[in-house]
Amino acid sequence: MSDSYRILAASAADFRDEIVHPQITICGKSIESVETGGMLVRVQEGDIAAKDCLLVPGFIDIHVHGGAGYSVMDGTRASIRAIGRHLVKHGVTGWLPTTVTAPLDITVAALNAISEEMKHPDPLGARILGIHLEGPYINPDKKGAQPLSYVRVPDSREFLKWAGPYLHAIKIVTLAPEMEGALELIQTLTRKNIITSIGHTNATYKEVDKAIYAGASHVTHCFNAMSPMTGREPGVVGAAFARKELKAELIWDNIHVHPASCDALVAAKGSSGVILISDGIPGAGMHDGYEFSLGDLPVTVKDGAARLPDGTLAGSMLTLDVARVNSAAFDPCTLSALISHNAADTLGLGRKTSILESGADADLCLIDKFNKIAGTIVQGKVVWMEKDQTERSKK
Ligand SMILES: [Zn+2]
Repeated sequence: MSDSYRILAASAADFRDEIVHPQITICGKSIESVETGGMLVRVQEGDIAAKDCLLVPGFIDIHVHGGAGYSVMDGTRASIRAIGRHLVKHGVTGWLPTTVTAPLDITVAALNAISEEMKHPDPLGARILGIHLEGPYINPDKKGAQPLSYVRVPDSREFLKWAGPYLHAIKIVTLAPEMEGALELIQTLTRKNIITSIGHTNATYKEVDKAIYAGASHVTHCFNAMSPMTGREPGVVGAAFARKELKAELIWDNIHVHPASCDALVAAKGSSGVILISDGIPGAGMHDGYEFSLGDLPVTVKDGAARLPDGTLAGSMLTLDVARVNSAAFDPCTLSALISHNAADTLGLGRKTSILESGADADLCLIDKFNKIAGTIVQGKVVWMEKDQTERSKK
């Protein structure tokens, strides 16, 4: 039996182009060919006929703490798996499990579970593309929902000691560059090919400038938990706007950031400079009134937002399919850049995934005319499908 099949859709788009009536042939884990004329083709056994759908590269979420009631910090492969299966329902095909500031032994247990899961990936979940460490080397004054008691002073040697066995999997470290010892740590991360993301920080523009010089290239959830922009002191937000060296994560949930500020950021940085993230927490995908803990802190879901008892936003309830709806005024190519390609590119995978061309990974999702996810394909395998919108002819 051949492991190839075709996807026929109303249209397709990656960050470069839109195609009308595509026929895309998948062979094994890869895209074999991308052609037009899909509406003239007779449907064969195994084909996916999604005549009302848009086909796009799968979403890549580089900042996810949890979902569907499970947390990355649970430190179990079962939780990581459950989150991966929750994500594919929202169009995500690749993700970075993201830690929060916590006792080092708990963080290490989480790293261990993630790296074990990477060695033996779940065939029904989104692919783990690496790890994002959010903390513990952040500024206590901008901790947001990160627990103060586990915040640490940046220390290269200490970092290499506890994170050493996982350096191959760690892709991004969020830290505050103004803290003592941070610049040395940024240099260490840069040498190890790990992205430094400036976040949970009160840095001045000058301090950001030094961080960029040391190798920092990314900003964590721009606008949130960082020094704001004013006329005389650009702060981290102003640096994110002005500096091409920095890619900016953005939580486009219309709660963390006003949509006009989101528009302003994309206008300033261009469609290649912004990466939509969920910052999704265990409550993502759960009902109002749901209670859970983020690290040590109790969180309650109310009116679509997750908050600590004092009202501080504690991560988001967002999923990337909803972020796409919130930013849907952009054309499909721009959306694909914001939700898929820019993240892949940051991770060095821009020619391998997030692109519709022969030889690229078959990590794809189908979006119906109501902007809902109709189907998700990871490494050529259909991992999730909304039956009403999409038909697959019987094999
Ligand atoms: Zn986060």
